[in-house]
Amino acid sequence: MTTKASTDPMPVLFVGHGSPMNAIEPNGYRQTWERLGRALPRPSAILCISAHWQTRGTLVTLADPPRTIHDFGGFPRALHEMRYPAPGAPELARLAASAIPGGGTDTAWGLDHGAWCVLAPMFPAADVPVFQLSLDAALSPRQHFELAQRLSFLRRQGVLILASGNIVHNLGRLRFDDPSPFAWALEFDEWVRARIESGDSASLCGYVEAGPAAAMSVPTDEHYLPMLYALALREPDEPLTFFNEGFDLGSVSMRSFVVGPASAR
Ligand code: ZN
Repeated sequence: MTTKASTDPMPVLFVGHGSPMNAIEPNGYRQTWERLGRALPRPSAILCISAHWQTRGTLVTLADPPRTIHDFGGFPRALHEMRYPAPGAPELARLAASAIPGGGTDTAWGLDHGAWCVLAPMFPAADVPVFQLSLDAALSPRQHFELAQRLSFLRRQGVLILASGNIVHNLGRLRFDDPSPFAWALEFDEWVRARIESGDSASLCGYVEAGPAAAMSVPTDEHYLPMLYALALREPDEPLTFFNEGFDLGSVSMRSFVVGPASAR
């Protein structure tokens, strides 16, 4: 029997995750994640592509349940004590790994904070199976984009793909005295927004050509690359809606978007 749910592709999310504190601190970003979780169709599983898991080759997690990884330091005890006890999805993980040339599986990784800090507010019941896909540190942005397209079949199996990073992410330039965004951060965030709007994935893969603002905004690419995964999974003419447009501490863009009919506004 074909149901509507099995033929409509699940939405895809790119979420600017920002500080791990967003997992527990009541703020506008977190409230939007909560609202979005209620607005989305219920997924069969969630695939997270997080800035915080870089490997040699592309790996997919088999852990069931995946452990909660506290890959940060210096935050309050409440954050270190948080657990996200969702089950894993080893069968889907194997399918995903087999769709990627050279893709492998992993039994050691669990859920890093790029995944669970967003999932805890978005799906607080932790009853949807979750698995992660790593970022192969050896690939170019274009290669990441092309790899991501191979995951599109998961959308029609009810899998919500959640890419988690930040378009502008320069922790060396965080400012606590004046949290207004730096000019280069605003410039690059706007440069990216315009190219997402026009569907210019070639420019977004070649972002280094955008000059000094790009170099300041993306000093290392692990927080930028998850966005390319979400864009690569957008089908022609599919709606894309921005949310959480704003900056944290001057040098982190929280700009996020949903691909598909769900709206977080
Ligand atoms: Zn991060």
